[in-house]
Amino acid sequence: MKYIVCEKPHEFLLKQKPVPQRKPGESLLKIRKIGICGTDIHAYGGTQPYFNYPRVLGHELAAEYIEGEALGFNMGDRVTFIPYFNCSKCIACRNGLTNCCVNMQVFGVHIDGGMAEYVCVKDDYLLHGEGLNYDELALVEPLAIAAHAVRRAGVTKNDTVLVMGAGPIGIGLVQFAQQAGAMVIVMDINDHRLNFCREELGVKALINPYKADVIESLAALTNGDMPTVIFDATGNRNVMNSAFNYMAHGGRFVLVGLQKGELAFSHPDFHKRESTLMSSRNATRQDFDYVLQSLRSGTIDPKRYITHRGSFESMIEQFNDWIDPKNNAIKIIIDVD
Ligand SMILES: [Zn+2]
Ligand SMILES: [Zn+2]
Repeated sequence: MKYIVCEKPHEFLLKQKPVPQRKPGESLLKIRKIGICGTDIHAYGGTQPYFNYPRVLGHELAAEYIEGEALGFNMGDRVTFIPYFNCSKCIACRNGLTNCCVNMQVFGVHIDGGMAEYVCVKDDYLLHGEGLNYDELALVEPLAIAAHAVRRAGVTKNDTVLVMGAGPIGIGLVQFAQQAGAMVIVMDINDHRLNFCREELGVKALINPYKADVIESLAALTNGDMPTVIFDATGNRNVMNSAFNYMAHGGRFVLVGLQKGELAFSHPDFHKRESTLMSSRNATRQDFDYVLQSLRSGTIDPKRYITHRGSFESMIEQFNDWIDPKNNAIKIIIDVD
């Protein structure tokens, strides 16, 4: 079978190896679609912290069930799976927080992933894809990241939510916060992405921090109250540090994006607000189930996210072009046929 390995930063290679042999408790899947994620782009660019090469990337996967004994799964079924392989033994796993397992192995990040024609996956991580197509199934994982963060923040209709960064994760945050009934404000330095939020997601409150004073804009949009929930989906340290001052009194600040450095904020300003700071990592089965249900009922329609696509074979030569910011990619999908 064919597979693509990220040999070292800025180098993908198309290689051949035998179809993997499944072990007991595993199923053999044929990969049909691969979503390209910020993590893949950082790994390719050499900017992903603690990343080892060579590595087969790919964790946003839609697949066809080929062979195995997983209960309720049949040959030819459309599936996806939870790519966060947890140990089931650590303190987090014992408390049901499989998303932040101490010994987390993310498929396509810590271990080789799904840029391959076939993969073997433990049955425990499989998800039924019935009623959904392969494009939708490849978008389940990034949506689950967003759904988890919105659930973790406890967003309700009484919240005014600021989403900072309108990439694929930010767009998911917008949709799940809207679904929770909140009023949503989006901030991004890219007008193309702001326009996408206006036109496709119906967001009325948009801020480009290069063009307007952020605190004044937020005050004007919230009657001086400021946002009760802030999500960072930029992964940019300066943006995160500034956002401590964007929060309403009694507000929550949720870090979804990740950066390598330290954060700094004024303790008195943080304290007087009785602020809550939290990070949000990966997602649990509950979040995946919620995403699948939202897709099936049509309340979330992510097909519009897909701006670029190509074949497995052409990915290597097109990759640099796709990730060039001037091409305004939101989600890139690889078709593996
Ligand atoms: Zn991803
Ligand atoms: Zn664990």
